[in-house]
Amino acid sequence: MTAPGAAPAVPVTGTPLLEARSLVKHFPVHRRGRRTQRGAVVHAVDDVSIAVPEASITAVVGESGCGKSTLTLMLARLVRPTSGELLLNGSPAAHRDAREYAGQVQMVLQDPFASLNLVHTVRYHLARPLRIHGLGPDGNNLDDEITSLLERVALSPQTGEKYPHELSGGQRQRVAIARALAVRPRVLLADEPVSMLDVSIRLGVLNLLADLRERERLAIVYVTHDIASARYLGDTIAVMYAGQIIEQGPAATVTDQPSHPYTQLLLAAAPDPDRPSPPALRGRGAPPSLVSPPAGCRFHPRCPYAMAICAQQAPPRVEVTSGHVSACWLHTKDADSAPLQNPGPTLGPIPLTTDSRPPRGEST
Ligand code: SF4
Repeated sequence: MTAPGAAPAVPVTGTPLLEARSLVKHFPVHRRGRRTQRGAVVHAVDDVSIAVPEASITAVVGESGCGKSTLTLMLARLVRPTSGELLLNGSPAAHRDAREYAGQVQMVLQDPFASLNLVHTVRYHLARPLRIHGLGPDGNNLDDEITSLLERVALSPQTGEKYPHELSGGQRQRVAIARALAVRPRVLLADEPVSMLDVSIRLGVLNLLADLRERERLAIVYVTHDIASARYLGDTIAVMYAGQIIEQGPAATVTDQPSHPYTQLLLAAAPDPDRPSPPALRGRGAPPSLVSPPAGCRFHPRCPYAMAICAQQAPPRVEVTSGHVSACWLHTKDADSAPLQNPGPTLGPIPLTTDSRPPRGEST
């Protein structure tokens, strides 16, 4: 069992390229430019630790508003953490020059229609970061560099002379990825990179990210609300809820044997053609306010297995199987078995490894 705030719970091989240790981000609450309640803050991210090794994909999954985009912005050093530490290749990121850091850690945004300037060609978009980072050769060599960038994202050299409005959404996202690759990063932060694309072209962009992991040994953080694509692409998955990581581990393990009730509900809500009317998170309430998140386990007002202790104390992180960590009282010996009276139906039993406590409502 690991106490909240400890080092990353999922073991990685070697020094992670990018590592977040207990990152916290609290935003002051304002209304019409003024702070409302003295000291009120949005707990956007609380005590989040992840480690991303070279040539790997870490998928961060959660509902809208769970804090995954704020986490990504902190990893990109575009938002300053309230507390916690960010390490790049084992050394504190705060000690690095911002441009040097951006040269190592690049971000691909969600909206390929807004991330490119409509009045400039693709060639301009790719040449600019080369110049800014002092990497760009002149003349014909620059053309070769741009052609190479386009080929790395499976676009033809002729694409360089096109404007964004002449490209499909998938092609634009490939240009955005090529622009990120121009500065030769070692880490790519992809924030919902396919959510605005047609379903038919999403797979191509996901496969491109998988290729980049293999070919260029990039460390990739893939942020998504779609647990099915997280399983498809990720080597590991970190599930976020209300600003915290509540389950983390190898992608296949987290999705085949979800050990946290929220992950189980998230999987149950994912589309499945073999399941005509899937039970969803609908009917189990909404995510909590992050201005005053619930005490104890933040999921307890929606959890079908909630016990009295869940409303009082934050659950510890428990390693349920090797490298698979869950923050839930169900996996401890100390849990209070008295159930809370939560609305909504219970799901099937969760596969437990350290405790055989039954779902609420079942007899012991
Ligand atoms: Fe949280 Fe308790 Fe439900 Fe576990 S059983 S997810 S600790 S409310």
